[in-house]
Amino acid sequence: MKLKYLLLFLSSSLFFAQNNFQTPFEKGNGNQTVTYDEMNAYYQNLAKSFNTIQYLKKGEDDNGKPIYVVIYNPFPEKDLNQLRKDKAILFVNNGIHPGEPDGIDATMMLMRDLATKKIKTPQNFIIAAISAYNVSGMLNRGSFSRANQNGPEQYGFRGNARNYDLNRDFIKADTKNARSFQEIYQWLKPDVFIDNHVSNGADYQYTFTYISTFKERLGNVLGEYFYNNYQAKNLEDLKKLGD
Ligand SMILES: [Zn+2]
Repeated sequence: MKLKYLLLFLSSSLFFAQNNFQTPFEKGNGNQTVTYDEMNAYYQNLAKSFNTIQYLKKGEDDNGKPIYVVIYNPFPEKDLNQLRKDKAILFVNNGIHPGEPDGIDATMMLMRDLATKKIKTPQNFIIAAISAYNVSGMLNRGSFSRANQNGPEQYGFRGNARNYDLNRDFIKADTKNARSFQEIYQWLKPDVFIDNHVSNGADYQYTFTYISTFKERLGNVLGEYFYNNYQAKNLEDLKKLGD
């Protein structure tokens, strides 16, 4: 009898947890993206509720507002220098172009699903993500700055507070955002880096497009590896998926 009640309690609290952590995107009509304040409140709540999630101020936008990094780390050790010895770190950047915000919303769902153990990572694996990199662009919301795009209803602006395109400022680092990014990157020293650029309904001929750089641009070792191993393997896998 007691076991039954316990199971009932566990399943209802799991149900509650999942509903409690619905993202604003999931609560919306499918054509809306989260605001900066909603995003921070969501992650702060998630970090308070799960000890596998941390939400840390790790830099500053040109407008003075904080850039945050969310980390899913299932291990008791929290020191990255220790963790890096035998664990792989995946680093994701979101919202460099806030008019392409899908990654911002998708990462919130991903972190929630990892925290609630709905999905599992490979062993010895940590995921860190900048929740939104171009904070000032994200705050500058509107509906008309991307004429060829069908949604979402409102989205951020491409340029940051000083109208820099941050995707052109990785190396010269004219912006506080880029200097913050360099610090975050050096702090994480990731094994794999993903920069999310996604738009909803831009008018391309194909549903899915992939573009890779010229191997000459990567230099000898990296170029050979990328072209002959990484890209070749990905192409094989794509072909296996079929049409
Ligand atoms: Zn972009």
